[in-house]
Amino acid sequence: VPVNFKRRNLLKVIVLGDSGVGKTSLMNRYVYNKFSQQYKATIGADFVTKELQLDDKLVTLQIWDTAGQERFQSLGSAFYRGADCCVLVYDVNVHKTFESLHNWRDEFLKQANPDDSETFPFIVLGNKVDVDGGSSRVVSKKKAMEWCASKGNIPYFETSAKEDYNIDEAFFCVAKIALANE
Ligand code: GDP
Ligand code: MG
Repeated sequence: VPVNFKRRNLLKVIVLGDSGVGKTSLMNRYVYNKFSQQYKATIGADFVTKELQLDDKLVTLQIWDTAGQERFQSLGSAFYRGADCCVLVYDVNVHKTFESLHNWRDEFLKQANPDDSETFPFIVLGNKVDVDGGSSRVVSKKKAMEWCASKGNIPYFETSAKEDYNIDEAFFCVAKIALANE
């Protein structure tokens, strides 16, 4: 396989959001189709990869997770360098995780320093919509979509890593907007 082909279709994706919102769970569900109730603050790898077909292109998503550092320290520039898309995750049942989205977005723009911060592809995931059948949610879909609209029409998906809801759709969108921005 020609090197150029590979390089052109490798997309680096950064997943950010407060600790506990389900970042690792979403990645594990998407890449391995696995879910665990157990809370594990660390994982072994810096990133996982998944190939998908997008129109006539074979795309490899390289999805970077935090190993729990999001709680207490900055993630370092290697983490952000060369990102093609940034996934911002919050928990629809915990309001402060929604309030944190603008900090994560700012932090990303500061650290990754993309060519055009106005058009850089972000995506927002409102996770854990399954909890108590939706009765314990505190952030409405409308409110989340308004925030996304105010930041330059960021695509928004509601997800459940537990129930495997909307995750393929969300990462398909990740691949699409990342590729479109290259
Ligand atoms: P991270 O700190 O953002 O990586 O969050 P984790 O992926 O470690 O998840 C934190 C906790 O939330 C774990 O106990 C997961 O099992 C749980 N969790 C993650 N996603 C969901 C979800 O969609 N629904 C429910 N009910 N629990 C979830
Ligand atoms: Mg994690």
